[in-house]
Order: sequence, then C-alpha cells, then structure tokens
Amino acid sequence: MQFNDRVAIVTGASRGIGRSIAEYLAARGAAVVAVSRNSADTAALVQQIEADGGKAMSVQADVAVAADVDAMIAAVQERFGRVDILVNNAGITRDNLLARMKEDDWDTVLDVNLKGAFLCTRAVARIMSKQRYGRIVNISSVVGQMGNAGQANYCASKSALGGLTRSNARELARRNVTVNAVAPGFIETDMTAGLAEKVRNEMLGQIPLGRFGTVDDVAAAVAFLASEQAGYITGHELSVNGGMYM
Ligand code: NAP
Repeated sequence: MQFNDRVAIVTGASRGIGRSIAEYLAARGAAVVAVSRNSADTAALVQQIEADGGKAMSVQADVAVAADVDAMIAAVQERFGRVDILVNNAGITRDNLLARMKEDDWDTVLDVNLKGAFLCTRAVARIMSKQRYGRIVNISSVVGQMGNAGQANYCASKSALGGLTRSNARELARRNVTVNAVAPGFIETDMTAGLAEKVRNEMLGQIPLGRFGTVDDVAAAVAFLASEQAGYITGHELSVNGGMYM
C-alpha cells in the first residue's frame, strides 16, 4: 500500500493508536495532518516524521468544537490544497456505573467520540465530494458491539459510530468516497494502561488469539481501508480484536 500524494488527517494523533496510524501512513508516502488538543505532542510527531523524510503538519483542535474543526480544515486546505483520508480516531472514556454516571460524563464522551466524528466528516465531505475521491475511517470499538458494564456512555458513542459510518457511506458513495469503521478490541495504550491486573486477566481469557492487540495491528487495518485498493468496500466495520467478539 502506497499513499504518495495523498493527504491524511488523523485526529487524536498525539499518542496511542492515532500516533501509530499517522506514522504508518507517513512512512508510506502520505502527507499527514496530526490533530490533538495538545500541540506539543503532535509537533514532536511531525518533527519525527519530517526527520524520516516524510511530510506532516500539526494542528491543535478539539474535535468536539465546530469552530476548531473548521479552522483545522482551513489550515489543511491552505497548506496541502486537498484532503484524501480522514481517520476519526480521537476518543475518550469517562467510565462509571450507570447509577453513578454524571450527566457531564455522558455529554463529554458523546461530544468527543461521536459529535467529533460528525463535525470532521461534515467538514471534509465537501472537499472529498468535489475531488471525487475520499476515504473516511471511523475508530469504533468491540465494546460498542458487545456492551460493557461501566461504559454506557462510551459504548453508546461507539455503537452510534456504526450508524454514522453506514449512513455516510450511503450518502457519499456516488462521489467515490468510502466510509468504513475499524473496531479494535483490547489494545495496549494509555487508555487501557490504568486497568486493574484482575480486569486485564479476565479480558485476556476472552481473547482466542491469547494476547492483547498492539497499535500497529490497528494501524495496518486502518491503512488498508484508507488505501486505493479498498475502493469497493464501504459501510463496513472491520474487527481487530483477536477474536474477542465474532
Ligand atoms: P489514547 O491513548 O487515550 O489517545 C487518545 C487521543 O485522542 C490522544 O491523541 C488525545 O490527545 C486525543 N483526543 C482526546 N480528546 C480529543 C479531542 N476532544 N479533540 C482532539 N483530540 C482528542 O487512546 P487510544 O487507546 O489510542 O484510543 C484511540 C481510539 O481508539 C479512541 O477512539 C478509542 O476509543 C479507540 N479504541 C481504543 C481501544 C484500546 O483498547 N485502546 C479499544 C477500542 C477502541 P489530546 O489529549 O492531546 O487531545
């Protein structure tokens, strides 16, 4: 898979899965736009990509804020003049049992994980439609498919990304823009690092492949759906979960 002359926006690129996706695409020729709320982290990633001979830019934006998203897209247009790939990866958790879940925890998670993907997709859809080319990949989650106690807000947001993916896939297909999702299982990142040993072992017991996933496992699947070769796949949710849910 090569991405020469392709411009790829990756949200939540400062660490974890998003960073790995950005590195993977940049190493294969894409000009990468690394987005997060903390510009110092994404600036360091851009420096690294450029030192390796790649092209990248860092944009500080909160994907849940429409004005930030619009400014981010304007900056990308000015620098690169097109957008070929959007990876809606930025995501957060605010876990609690239903009875104890604060309204603010519900709203914040839905705002970042779901509304953020809507805002970014709406902003690039116009550009990709004009280009008659685009690849959009939403990062959902195995728990959006299975449900998970203590994560009603997170699971609802990830499940809803499936509906967003399929609706946008139908709407944009005629413009040669594909929209798919990747649903990771348990991946070793900051998001999962804080889990208790007991919970981790219970999770491991549910994974037929017998290991947790790596950020590179997810990046490879995202890159495939973002490639030209995946042009006849749209509205699909690809599980990268070691068989945890099938
Ligand atoms: P992570 O290590 O916590 O990284 C999250 C990234 O999102 C960071 O770059 C963060 O940067 C960015 N971010 C958070 N809120 C943002 C906002 N409002 N606007 C812009 N950027 C924002 O998480 P991860 O484990 O890599 O997860 C990445 C994605 O995969 C998420 O959507 C997550 O739900 C999904 N996922 C993860 C797993 C797993 O096991 N790790 C499993 C299934 C799905 P800043 O804080 O600087 O903004």
